Amino acid sequence: MFLNDTIASIATAMTNSGIGIIRVSGPESISIVDKIFVAKNRNKKLADRNTYTAHYGFIYDGEEMVDECVVLLMKAPNSYTKEDVVEIDCHGGVMVMKKVLELVIRNGARPAEPGEFTKRAFLNGRIDLSQAESVMDIIHSKNEFALKSSLKQLRGSLKEEITGLRKNILHEIAFIESALDDPEHISLDGYADNLKVVVTEELKRIEKMLESTDNGRILKEGIKTAIIGKPNAGKSTLLNSILGEERAIVTEIAGTTRDTLEEAVSIHGIPLNIIDTAGIRSTEDVVEKIGVNKAKEMAKDADLVLYVIDASKELDEDDKNIMELLKEKKVIALMNKMDLDTVISKEDIRVFSDMAVVEISAKHNDGMQELYDLLKDMFFDGNFSFNDEIYITNMRHKTALLNAKDNLLQVLTSIENEMPEDFYSIDLMAAYEELGYIIGESLGEDLVNEIFSSFCMGK
Ligand code: GDP
Repeated sequence: MFLNDTIASIATAMTNSGIGIIRVSGPESISIVDKIFVAKNRNKKLADRNTYTAHYGFIYDGEEMVDECVVLLMKAPNSYTKEDVVEIDCHGGVMVMKKVLELVIRNGARPAEPGEFTKRAFLNGRIDLSQAESVMDIIHSKNEFALKSSLKQLRGSLKEEITGLRKNILHEIAFIESALDDPEHISLDGYADNLKVVVTEELKRIEKMLESTDNGRILKEGIKTAIIGKPNAGKSTLLNSILGEERAIVTEIAGTTRDTLEEAVSIHGIPLNIIDTAGIRSTEDVVEKIGVNKAKEMAKDADLVLYVIDASKELDEDDKNIMELLKEKKVIALMNKMDLDTVISKEDIRVFSDMAVVEISAKHNDGMQELYDLLKDMFFDGNFSFNDEIYITNMRHKTALLNAKDNLLQVLTSIENEMPEDFYSIDLMAAYEELGYIIGESLGEDLVNEIFSSFCMGK
């Protein structure tokens, strides 16, 4: 990849739609589009136009008209990539978009690699790496919380926090180094105590970010939810009832094991990822006894368990075992089939467990609102708190934070053991570097390439 050439790509989806955008970035972008674009009033070239202007006209391949379009002009440095950028808004047909792109390339641009526009924005210093990564997160956001959090990261929340931490660390390194260089004028007497305070404070801030990773994951991926219960309790009926709520935005995503699926669904803004084992749906498994082991396995990875109980049947040993097993989990017990003659009450469940209980009829969609209200309470208060903090949703960031934490802990150990000062600065430097990875300040080129290659075309 070069930085000094001009790249082009189709930036919108490759399906037929209203508008298709061909994005061109680089020093030649304006002159290239000038070769194929004729404005309606033919008297001026794009090169002579002001930045941030839109121009109506036609794309030509020699004498032949290819499409009608609007061209947007964004001159360096005020553009997505900080380079000259031209966007051609043509009609959104796959054929016509390909044709326009082909023309742009024939006239001197090179096809962009996935993520290359964003990579240029990073390399040209418009955004840091955490912001670049958030662009991808915004595109892949599955719910409004994830979107909000990604937007925050794009606006630089993580960058600011990391930059602040690094600045403090660098200050200490600089102090130690200059004192070691010039012991006559700068004394390190009592310095270890000061450093201990600073490092402890830094560790607290890092710890806080690390603590956010669980919520961060939930926020990004949804609450991993397992529906558990004995055969015929009404699990499939419940699943259908939940999915029926917002069928339109249900997407099927591959689960962690081969025979499970997760259905991502957003109910009243609450993102649920329902673990749908093949067993929940297949009729064969309905006959098979659920068994405690299976419930255990399903509940293991879940953030939330919906435990379905058939209220028209007496509780038995299996129920007791399953409830015992779910003790450490966030659970809502659903007393199902309340439309039938019931033989158990909420109190019967409370004998075994203090889990929240909601009475429903999955078949008739009764009591679902109460379930959703309860979820909302759990989600917004207490158990799942989503406020204005920074959420770490990226494994790469988490690893760097963990490493930086180790390095800083090592500094504290060195202070404890009264090691010479240059020991402090070695570990401080290591922490500084680790934190730098998050914002892309000490990353090798290979890693940068790897990160950007996971981007979409045209982004
Ligand atoms: P699963 O084995 O736990 O997935 O149970 P199913 O969802 O397949 O339901 C078993 C049977 O119970 C089916 O015949 C359902 O129609 C019935 N069922 C499920 N929920 C209710 C309910 O709320 N009321 C009544 N009366 N029947 C229900």
